[in-house]
Amino acid sequence: MNRLLEFSSSKKKELINISSQVERIVNQSNNRDGMCLVYTPHTTAAILINEDEPGFKEDIEKILAVWIPEGNWQHNQVDGNATAHLASALIGQSKVVPIINGDLQLGTWQQIFLVELDGPRPIRRVVVQIN
Ligand code: ZN
Repeated sequence: MNRLLEFSSSKKKELINISSQVERIVNQSNNRDGMCLVYTPHTTAAILINEDEPGFKEDIEKILAVWIPEGNWQHNQVDGNATAHLASALIGQSKVVPIINGDLQLGTWQQIFLVELDGPRPIRRVVVQIN
């Protein structure tokens, strides 16, 4: 079973909590035990799992700026958004979460985020595949 989700972003960089939408798809599926793949088909967005806490969201932006400072990146000659591509490549476009007894195995503080790295954008897609 698979589903396409669509989100809009409102900032240049943004962590959008998509856990409830993913869990709804898991609950609608008949898979009691399996894997839930969460994937975004974009080069300037990513999928991340962590705590939904404002300070953490700020810290992610801070560490991305340290790891990947604005600078003379080659891709900026194409469309000026090299740091967004690089952050997407480092965080990754997908995560897999086990499903056991019909429940997504997220820890108490774990949430699934779509990470916008070059927003705002009217449509960001997330594919949820359950096997
Ligand atoms: Zn680009």
